[in-house]
Amino acid sequence: MRSINPATGELLREYDEMGRDTVRRILAGAADAFASWRDASFAERGLVMDRAAALLRDRRDEYARLMALEMGKPVGQGRAEGDKCAWVCGYYTEQAARFLAPHNVPSDASRSYVDFSPLGVVLAVMPWNYPFWQVFRFAAPALMAGNAAVLKHASNVSGCALAIEALLLDAGAPAGLFSTVLVGTEGVGEIIDAPEVKAVTLTGSTAAGRSVASRAGAALKKTVLELGGSDPYLVLEDADLEEATSACVTSRLLNAGQSCIAAKRFIVVQAVAGRFEQLLVDGMRAVRVGDPLDEATEMGPLARPDLCEGLQAQVAESVRMGARLLLGGLAPDASGSFYPPTVLAGVGPGMPAWDDELFGPVAALRTVADEAEAIRAANDSAFGLGAAVFTRDIARGERVAAAMEAGICFVNSYVKSDPRLPFGGVKLSGYGRELGEFGIREFVNVKTIYVK
Ligand code: NAP
Repeated sequence: MRSINPATGELLREYDEMGRDTVRRILAGAADAFASWRDASFAERGLVMDRAAALLRDRRDEYARLMALEMGKPVGQGRAEGDKCAWVCGYYTEQAARFLAPHNVPSDASRSYVDFSPLGVVLAVMPWNYPFWQVFRFAAPALMAGNAAVLKHASNVSGCALAIEALLLDAGAPAGLFSTVLVGTEGVGEIIDAPEVKAVTLTGSTAAGRSVASRAGAALKKTVLELGGSDPYLVLEDADLEEATSACVTSRLLNAGQSCIAAKRFIVVQAVAGRFEQLLVDGMRAVRVGDPLDEATEMGPLARPDLCEGLQAQVAESVRMGARLLLGGLAPDASGSFYPPTVLAGVGPGMPAWDDELFGPVAALRTVADEAEAIRAANDSAFGLGAAVFTRDIARGERVAAAMEAGICFVNSYVKSDPRLPFGGVKLSGYGRELGEFGIREFVNVKTIYVK
């Protein structure tokens, strides 16, 4: 397993894949840790998560540098990611006892109530795009609920995976409570089948979700899937165009566009299409692309060369099918996996830029006649993760939000995750929820207690 700097192509480090015996030992250690952690109080668990939050803040520069080196995230964005991980640890430290308090339900019993107990060891298969945040947004609620966790991180961010394991140990987590397994995709099936593992969560592509969920389904183990998206951003004729464009550019280019909830399809009502197109092209052109270790850089490279090649092919095919290239569109002939901010207009069904997910800095524009057509176009997607609508009429915005086939819809803002709000999708974007009260209830036994 290799960590390669995507800005330079330089090999940073090679990691040996763990053998079957090592993995078995780790799973047994996780089950042992769970046996005592399940009985720890919320206050005891919270002490560990609070210390983890403090360490995340203390080490934010170190972790930001690691993310920049392993997957190309600009250091400023890496520091913000570390701070957000600290936030989610603190949030569940404060809220877990309330979210999981026994819940009385009147019935014909003298007393009946619902109790929430942890499931056991949860396997987390995680992606490289937010290598700390994706892990903590699963781990903070899962550990606070009393579970143990085993992480199979993306193969290109093994350094981040090991750093997170070390951080939780330094924070006082019992040995084995949170462990990293360094295995490739072919090692995942056996881990899912292992008796110690009670549930699985995966964040990543639809293909990976299908594979992991079918294996877990055969073993009758619960899964949560956070998969890709092709989020529509609807710009209506009464939108504040400057604000809308600024949100659209930020959302499309943050993390070099490698986010499941990045703005991907821009659906603009005819009356403002020309002006929006110009503002979008200007905004995308203005971003500073460069070395992720440079403080001034706003957008770094894509995380791997194969992702760059795949994106290039999706753009070329969309252009071949009739999309108009307004900006970018060609990877520079230099070392590193850089891909320029790109805008495609006239995008529609049948083109990869419309039907598939573009996991990089490419905006796909489509002009529509009115609100009704905008809603139909937005829902004309196999995905259903996030969506956004821009209008000065808030009631109209909420009405359009209600019509979106998506797990999350923002009005007059780009979509972002927040520890307090449930996060997840419908259709090919997956199922289950992370974050908020719904997130912590995914990996618990919702147990009915009936007293005659
Ligand atoms: P990916 O292949 O789905 O990888 C995500 C994780 O799943 C990695 O840990 C990967 O391990 C593992 N994995 C992949 N195939 C697997 C399989 N058949 N069985 C078990 N585990 C498997 O993602 P990617 O190709 O690196 O990223 C590109 C795509 O992923 C994007 O187009 C996007 O759709 C999606 N994505 C979504 C999110 C999100 O937040 N929803 C985040 C990142 C990526 P290895 O690294 O060892 O292959």
